[in-house]
Amino acid sequence: MSPISRNLQAVNESIAAAAQAVSRRADEVSLLAVSKTFGAEAVIAAADAGQRLFGENYLQESLDKIAAVKAQRPDLLLEWHFIGPIQSNKTRPIAEHFDWVHSVDREKIAERLSDQRPPDRQPLNICLQVNISGEASKSGVLPGEALDIARRIAVLPRLRLRGLMAIPEPETEFEAQRAPHRKLRQLLEELRAQGLQLDTLSMGMSADLDAAIAEGATIVRIGTAIFGQRHYAK
Ligand SMILES: *Cc1c(COP(=O)(O)O)cnc(C)c1O
Repeated sequence: MSPISRNLQAVNESIAAAAQAVSRRADEVSLLAVSKTFGAEAVIAAADAGQRLFGENYLQESLDKIAAVKAQRPDLLLEWHFIGPIQSNKTRPIAEHFDWVHSVDREKIAERLSDQRPPDRQPLNICLQVNISGEASKSGVLPGEALDIARRIAVLPRLRLRGLMAIPEPETEFEAQRAPHRKLRQLLEELRAQGLQLDTLSMGMSADLDAAIAEGATIVRIGTAIFGQRHYAK
């Protein structure tokens, strides 16, 4: 077994155990393998071990990688999720090459993604990124702005607004990790109570996977625990 396939097995077991601990089914939680800074060969190794969803942060790196994986292994049917910061002049390749975007935090970005989504592809799945810890330095809309922006994104024709995403401030204690994830879940529930049809909570990374699943994560975004430490500052 390759290190990547061993790690993937361990992560899938952690997801199943965390779900079971709160009486959720393991298949309610999707694993997004965050392959940023790792090459096409790492993606292919994970795909050969059964992984289908991949997350990327850096646009040029991801476009090169998607093309390389397609060229080497046209048989693989992978789903690509963009999870990094988005510059408004770089939306077109995201709209063309990705299945999901988790990091939408401005209406203008959503409008451009909708306009630029190719007509022969399914609507682009979108999560609204929320600055759940309220840190001045973080991207994401403030919780109080989420309903208004979500309503405006939900009507864009070539997008499908699926839910919310957050990157909480790192905490080491389980209960401290749970608090921001609980806030994001409660915000999703409020938006649903207002009539928005949302089914996705993108939250939980290598270090806070259990807390996120305990609070209802439906997509966990895991990099280090699958691919190992990243060797450059990204
Ligand atoms: C890098 C990254 C991850 C994965 O983080 P790990 O700690 O390596 O699991 C998840 N989400 C986002 C938005 C990231 O940038």
